[in-house]
Amino acid sequence: MEFDEFAERADRIESLSGDHDKVDEVADLLSDAGTDEVRVVARFVQGRVFPDWDDRKLDVGPSLLYDALALAGEPTADEIEERVAETGDVGEAAARLGTGGQQTFGSTTETVSDVYDAFESLASKEGEGSQETKTRELGSLFMDTPPRSAKHLARLVLGEMRLGVGEGTVRDGIVSAYGVDTELVERGIMLTNDVGEVAEVARDEGNEGLRSLEMVVGRPVKPMLAQASTVDNVFSDLSADEAVVQTKYDGARVQAHVGEETRLFSRSLEDLTDSLPDVVETVEDAVRSDEAILDAEVVAVSDGEPLPFQEVLRRLRRKYRVEEMRDEVGLELHVFDVLYDSDDGAVIEETLKERQDRLADAVDDEAVARTATVEDTDGVRREEADALDAGHEGVVVKHPESVYSPGRRGKNWLKIKPEPETLDLVVTGGEWGEGRRASLVGSYLLSVRREQGYETVGKVATGLTDETLEELTERFEELVVSEVGKEIEFKPEVVFEVGYEEIQRSPVYTSGYALRFPRFLGVRDDKSVEDADTLERLERLYEND
Ligand code: AMP
Repeated sequence: MEFDEFAERADRIESLSGDHDKVDEVADLLSDAGTDEVRVVARFVQGRVFPDWDDRKLDVGPSLLYDALALAGEPTADEIEERVAETGDVGEAAARLGTGGQQTFGSTTETVSDVYDAFESLASKEGEGSQETKTRELGSLFMDTPPRSAKHLARLVLGEMRLGVGEGTVRDGIVSAYGVDTELVERGIMLTNDVGEVAEVARDEGNEGLRSLEMVVGRPVKPMLAQASTVDNVFSDLSADEAVVQTKYDGARVQAHVGEETRLFSRSLEDLTDSLPDVVETVEDAVRSDEAILDAEVVAVSDGEPLPFQEVLRRLRRKYRVEEMRDEVGLELHVFDVLYDSDDGAVIEETLKERQDRLADAVDDEAVARTATVEDTDGVRREEADALDAGHEGVVVKHPESVYSPGRRGKNWLKIKPEPETLDLVVTGGEWGEGRRASLVGSYLLSVRREQGYETVGKVATGLTDETLEELTERFEELVVSEVGKEIEFKPEVVFEVGYEEIQRSPVYTSGYALRFPRFLGVRDDKSVEDADTLERLERLYEND
């Protein structure tokens, strides 16, 4: 399939608002993709280049992309940046590279596979001079690309396709294109963590092929996530008579793959193996099976006492001074689940109780997370008190009969922490309210700090009383920089303390993250914007989530 045809289809998908229509278009797109291209197309349409388990990255940020676009077209990188700021969309800016805002050159027959090959080449560039090489390679890719293709190419490079196509849409598209079962497609995506592979198997081998898909040791799956709860609510949230209570260790999530070699992956599926040689050794000593995939937390310790999670982060992804840091920050491993076992392959469809039995067989006791089964709220409270006394963060309460659902956050795992984390964020904008609040600034745009400038991370409107809104509206009056419609830009001077449920990845805000259920807790008059939280802290909190 020519990339320009993919782009035309992408335009169409973008313009549709109904989910069903989008699914139909995605199904058509998959059906029409060339034999060798369905894997790539299934990923591209979701804004992904490589399988989710694959930790290769294009590593192209906005400024490299603008430089590449400038090489390919008339405007300078600064002009392109301005256009992106005006339209809020790098795709639109890329589509207008030629004279008079319309690109006049380029009408190649580049295929989807050609683009994928070019991306593989970009991802392989590392080290000295790689930025320049990447800019050149990417520039030449755009040089041959007609406007519509340039638009989607630019968005793809930054991982924001904006087609409104998530995993569910592609799953349903595969079901409709190849007449296979939804549950089997969903299971396949969970186990392989590659929507492209599932699409190809569904097309070539149907339900039979999907049924034989397996987890592969060495390819990480998405970790299951926990939802926040309180001790008093756990039993009603779980709707169970019994609960499995585990210590919540305050460190970094690690998925350990034991096979011919041992590999460790982070929560975001990055390969951590080289930075954690001591954890590799611990895993190898503790695990009694030939092959296993384990879910665990590693915690920094000193004299047997747990240290704050920031200490673990000093060890992750480190390329240099690995051995030195290993002596400085000791790590302890706490395995809390097993996803794959040599004898039976993937065991995520078993209940937690069954998996806990497997865990006890497969891993030495010292490396297993503290786990208890309780039948009432007092039991949960006792376990929590013990965990806190031992210097840990709290407990995670789990449904005894629950399966392991990769990438899902639901009521089967509940995290209970006495003190939720808050963020101190800089207010960089706002929006006039509606109705009764029309004369008040009703919501505030929040940003984290960078070395230079700010990146947005969300809007807060919850937790603000009418009285506070009046005070804030008056206070922000003198900080207005500009107003467009209902939106206001403020000079960054005020810091809000904000609570939230969790941090999510999101293309909506410039930080690349968004807060789920942000709520206003107060103005931090004791803090200046220089004291506000940084993008780095946000990233760390996300990693630890
Ligand atoms: P939070 O970081 O507060 O969102 O809590 C969820 C995180 O707690 C998970 O992603 C794990 O990294 C960590 N965690 C620590 N101990 C456990 C445990 N026993 N079960 C599940 N997650 C745990």
